[in-house]
Amino acid sequence: MPQSAFDYDLFVIGAGSGGVRASRIAAGHGARVAVAEEFRIGGTCVIRGCVPKKLLVYASQFADDLGHAADYGWTVEGARFDWPKLRDAVARDVDRLNAAYTRTLESNKVTHFLDRAEIVGPNSVRLKASGETVTAAKILIATGAWPVMPEFPGAEHCITSNEVFHLETLPARVVIAGAGYIAMEFAGIFNALGCAVTVVNRSDTILRGYDIDLRERLLAITRARGIAYRFDAPFDRVEKGEDSSLLVHVTDGGAPIAADVVLVATGRRPNTAGLGLENAGIALGTRGEIPVDADGRTSCPSVFAVGDVTDRVQLTPIAIREGHAFSDTQFGGKPGAVSYEAIPSAVFSQPPLASVGPTEAEARATHGDIRIFTSDFRPMKNIFSERIERGFYKLVVDAATDRVLGIHMIGPDAPEVLQAAAIAVKAGLTKADFDATVALHPSMAEELVLMR
Ligand code: NDP
Repeated sequence: MPQSAFDYDLFVIGAGSGGVRASRIAAGHGARVAVAEEFRIGGTCVIRGCVPKKLLVYASQFADDLGHAADYGWTVEGARFDWPKLRDAVARDVDRLNAAYTRTLESNKVTHFLDRAEIVGPNSVRLKASGETVTAAKILIATGAWPVMPEFPGAEHCITSNEVFHLETLPARVVIAGAGYIAMEFAGIFNALGCAVTVVNRSDTILRGYDIDLRERLLAITRARGIAYRFDAPFDRVEKGEDSSLLVHVTDGGAPIAADVVLVATGRRPNTAGLGLENAGIALGTRGEIPVDADGRTSCPSVFAVGDVTDRVQLTPIAIREGHAFSDTQFGGKPGAVSYEAIPSAVFSQPPLASVGPTEAEARATHGDIRIFTSDFRPMKNIFSERIERGFYKLVVDAATDRVLGIHMIGPDAPEVLQAAAIAVKAGLTKADFDATVALHPSMAEELVLMR
């Protein structure tokens, strides 16, 4: 690769999933790469998102497992939960991953600055703490997204998913604003850990975008597990009492809700504040995102963006793929674009749900003639349990071609099952291919090939 007159061939702003992957791949192609990170190397997924969240999900699921264990003949009296112990264990694992990501950059000869970088021109950034200006042939913005805190009196008493991993104590009462991914995942965690949880949403639904049958099943199960819901209830204000307890006033006409912690999970906005985009002539899109073309190029030819900051699909594996494709295209002579078709996703609620492809309603709108196959079953592990929690799988099939367009699942281990099934959807397999596959018995996943 020819050495340019710039300090670096590539300067990446943000060392999260997308930025680290892009840096490593570009460096592997011989580019001179630097990356700046103002918080911790690893980004949202690793430091304050998917990874620590999943550890909390595992921790909270032991509560359920202990119930099952008793049903299966075990004596479990005396089991106790220690929040500080879990919190600190999770923090240690985050430290481990932070170090591993840092080592990855170092071993790939990527220079990293633990500093905030702002764009000062099409080929230059300024590092805020050091005041140094650095030039690069190409700049990649991979600054991710940041939790939205709607404006209401008392918002300063509330926390977001950034702070939830660091609570001093396990709160007795938790109110969660929003009913999307983060709200439903933390509602499940806190509920299983024994907290009183109320989910408050501005609309009348949970998990907009997922198949309606999964949402209704999750709502029914979580209500039976004790999660309270208040719908059509935007926040009015949050008051803090002298004893530090909080009182959440909502606009549904109902009584205010007492809480020890109020978690606001009302979406994440592209993280562009103060980035200096105007210095490269880049204007934001209507959702606050950085508009890019299929190659991730912004309106400034030397500036690119990947991941949540572009607000295409806010998922870690997509940011990683976009970062990888960017570096292969720009530095590896291997042009390639990310396919956004058949992206699997999951909500680690309890029980979890997972999906790939269009929902039934979306497929009816786009494909017209479709066939729907469902399985409503009692997971075998729950057989001794007094709680009737049934799993539910749905296949959306194109009637004309028999191709399986979508799979939607709620039930234990649904994300694990769906990841494998998503291969079949991506490969364009048909319902007949599913039917021709021998069931693996006894399992929940066998329901996938037994729907007639
Ligand atoms: P989501 O977009 O999933 O949900 C936002 C929720 O907040 C919705 O219920 C929405 O209401 C409500 N809401 C939106 N705007 C406002 C507002 N201004 N005032 C009040 N309520 C509002 O956001 P999350 O914060 O939960 O997650 C952000 C993103 O992070 C997700 O989109 C996802 O891409 C990613 N993520 C993925 C995870 C996974 O893959 N398992 C886990 C966690 C996050 P309404 O019902 O009207 O839509």
